[in-house]
Amino acid sequence: MFTCMTKSPAETAKLAELVGQTIHEGTVLCLEGDLGAGKTLFVQSFAHTLGVEGEVTSPTFNLMNIYEGICPIVHFDLYRLESEDDLEEIGFYEYTEDPDGIVVIEWADKFPEAMPEEFVRVQIERTPVNEEERRFILTGIGERNEKFVKELADRVTFGY
Ligand code: ADP
Ligand code: MG
Repeated sequence: MFTCMTKSPAETAKLAELVGQTIHEGTVLCLEGDLGAGKTLFVQSFAHTLGVEGEVTSPTFNLMNIYEGICPIVHFDLYRLESEDDLEEIGFYEYTEDPDGIVVIEWADKFPEAMPEEFVRVQIERTPVNEEERRFILTGIGERNEKFVKELADRVTFGY
């Protein structure tokens, strides 16, 4: 587990950039945090680091976007999904089980049972200190993801 504070949107973007530089293809990133926590901002910087050009927006209504970067980046937002049963319909399991590329899921914690066996959990919390501070807690589930979190911790030089 790795915990890091960011003090501005720019610092969150920097953290996402480091995550993008460290991540391996085939990884699923599950993002957890309230509305306005910074999940989409994180995905935007992450996707741009991985070579995505053009706009990256929260797929709140269409539930899923796919971007072409150095590999496919599949972006889910489960905020409006009412039932776990609907995940099959949107092809969720085809993308998250043995992914081709990288998968990021906003509001992953709504359906914990539906998440794959191995993933990286990114929890984002506001802090009482100030409006622009966020606490990031990254946890690697599975051996490869644990290793990824350790590697990331070595590269982040701010926010302790
Ligand atoms: P979510 O997708 O989690 O609902 P967004 O990424 O859409 O959240 O929005 C996050 C909002 O919080 C943005 O308006 C951003 O400018 C603001 N913000 C303030 N401080 C931070 C920070 N440290 N990290 C990320 N976002 C921040
Ligand atoms: Mg969002």
